[in-house]
Amino acid sequence: MKLHEYQSKQIFSRYGIPVPAGKVAASADEARQAADEIGCPVVIKSQVLVGGRGKAGGIKLARSVREAEELASQILSMDIKGLPVRKVLVDPAANIEQEIYLGITNDRAARRPVFMASAAGGVDIEEVARTTPEKIIKVHIDPLLGLRDYQARDIAIGIDLPKEYWKQFGEICRGLWRAYMECDATLAEINPLVILKEQSLMALDGKMALDDNALFRHPELAEMRDLDEEAPAETEARKYGLSFIKLDGQIGCMVNGAGLAMTTMDIVKLFGGEPANFLDIGGGAGADKVAAAMRIILSDKNVKAILFNVFGGITRCDEVARGILAALAEVKPAIPMIVRLVGTNAEEGRKLLADANMITADTLADAARKSVAAAGA
Ligand code: GDP
Ligand code: MN
Repeated sequence: MKLHEYQSKQIFSRYGIPVPAGKVAASADEARQAADEIGCPVVIKSQVLVGGRGKAGGIKLARSVREAEELASQILSMDIKGLPVRKVLVDPAANIEQEIYLGITNDRAARRPVFMASAAGGVDIEEVARTTPEKIIKVHIDPLLGLRDYQARDIAIGIDLPKEYWKQFGEICRGLWRAYMECDATLAEINPLVILKEQSLMALDGKMALDDNALFRHPELAEMRDLDEEAPAETEARKYGLSFIKLDGQIGCMVNGAGLAMTTMDIVKLFGGEPANFLDIGGGAGADKVAAAMRIILSDKNVKAILFNVFGGITRCDEVARGILAALAEVKPAIPMIVRLVGTNAEEGRKLLADANMITADTLADAARKSVAAAGA
């Protein structure tokens, strides 16, 4: 789950990281009031869950309250990379001396979190990463030991930070580390962390992504989810406890088990098709779950066929088949459906489905081949 800039900065602030005293506004009128209370100049910042807002024109400096209102109205009517702007953050403008990049993420290959930092922060950090990766320094952190003081110093030295800022930089690194660990984040990033003309450091932007699988431990963070920003299919999938990820292909995949779902997608590709989604309906999925999954898959207009790949272990195949039949009665899809059932009571399951106009397959390869053919027809 991604957090908005204003939410990330609220969290950062709780961990002692200095951030501008901004206000969120959902209308031009609210933005004018916020600008008036904060005092101009202010920066009007679009709140959308995508990077590169600055370059897309979603961040503007307003010198007066009237200008703040105008710019907010303009930004609130924008789409940034396909996402409509629904809120803006009104921040007091900062006098920037230098923009630094500072972030933490998981380095899966190293099996531990990694701090990344660069003296060349700001809107061109992706370009820096591509063309001059040596300008980004990395320090891996032992999750059990946590961030050590010498490591924060190593980062400061690595980005040539003047010595007078080391103490404050160390506090910010520790705050960011604690925010990352205590929130079960997968990303905590400040870009830019600026050296102000007033000779102190401040986080002007903030970005956090949280591990969905750990959200049950953080009800107050889970509440920060912005349903407006989420694809409706994903909201629906979460409601039914389905793991769903939308993809761009034509073959809808309904599978029980994450590993089997991955395999199914691979085989679909092997036979020349493209999966429309990843979907794990989980063990013991009843008719209501299957029906919800079917509705979610069918809400994607690119889907030309649905492939059911079910391995009945704990869940018996005849039960799954009944679930599929009940779902069919409810959803009535108009596209071909291919089903491969294997495992406990597979025979009974297949018999139940034989009358339902479904294409049955004996092997996964057979099912994939038939799905690709059906989708192409
Ligand atoms: P992003 O483009 O989505 O990463 O949005 P940022 O919040 O990082 O803003 C982009 C850029 O706008 C920053 O790198 C700064 O150069 C500039 N910016 C943001 N806030 C301020 C501010 O308060 N004062 C000034 N002068 N520039 C700002
Ligand atoms: Mn930024």
